Amino acid sequence: MDKELYIGSHVSMSSPKYYLGSVEEAISYGANTLMFYTGAPQNSFRLPIEKLRIEEGRALLKANGFNEDKIIVHAPYIINIANQLNDVNYGMAKSVLLNEVKRTAAFGCKTLVLHPGSHVNTGVENGIDSIVKALDEVLDKDGTDVKIALETMAGKGSEMGTSFEQMAEIISKTKHPERIGICLDTCHISDNNYNINDFDKILDNVEKTVGLDKLLVIHVNDSKNDVGAHKDRHENIGYGFIGFDALNAVVHNPRIPGVPKILETPFVNEMPPYKEEIAMFKAGKFNDWRK
Ligand code: FE
Ligand code: FE
Ligand code: ZN
Repeated sequence: MDKELYIGSHVSMSSPKYYLGSVEEAISYGANTLMFYTGAPQNSFRLPIEKLRIEEGRALLKANGFNEDKIIVHAPYIINIANQLNDVNYGMAKSVLLNEVKRTAAFGCKTLVLHPGSHVNTGVENGIDSIVKALDEVLDKDGTDVKIALETMAGKGSEMGTSFEQMAEIISKTKHPERIGICLDTCHISDNNYNINDFDKILDNVEKTVGLDKLLVIHVNDSKNDVGAHKDRHENIGYGFIGFDALNAVVHNPRIPGVPKILETPFVNEMPPYKEEIAMFKAGKFNDWRK
């Protein structure tokens, strides 16, 4: 195995075990990192941090030799900081984001993945402006060292975050560029016309726009659709249009060794696929486990 491969998946966090259960779930997949939401992904209701069994989860991480710096939190996807059509909504998005940044730090984690949001017919320039202002406001007052990883999106509707050039513009315009990076989702960028089969060319592009040091997380997903589809439908590794070999080359790419690789592929017959998929990447070989 590579010297510094961090591979894991999205895991759940639910009653009664909460974070302890999330860590147990990751271990059961043979993972050495994980990604979780600090509450439901689709809303902003959040249990108080004291209820989430964080100390027990962290103790289990330590006992199993996990590197906490590689663990990822995902912000709820209702946050939309990319337009200011409605002051109340924009204010709400910023306060939910501020709360999530603080919660990420309370778990001892360093990276929060955020969807950049939709400009909703107000135009890309306005989208960039709104995102920059919101990030500045949140990072002015959060008092943590958490980094926000803006996720590359599939380009549905008026989604922002559809190119590395746009990400670079956002990062360069903020007051806190050192605290912002990107999360590269293979399904999403394939949907945006980037060919994952030539991942080194994509990394060249990342290098000359945001910089390779800004690549904080990779979401490793196959896609149900062909390049450029703008659909955002994840597929199990090796069963989609990207394919196992291209994704395996992403996971083991020597230019980005320490970057955590996180699977967000769909369940099969209500069962998580992550144990099988992680094992395939560790072996570097496709295994037709779904048949
Ligand atoms: Fe996401
Ligand atoms: Fe993703
Ligand atoms: Zn997606």
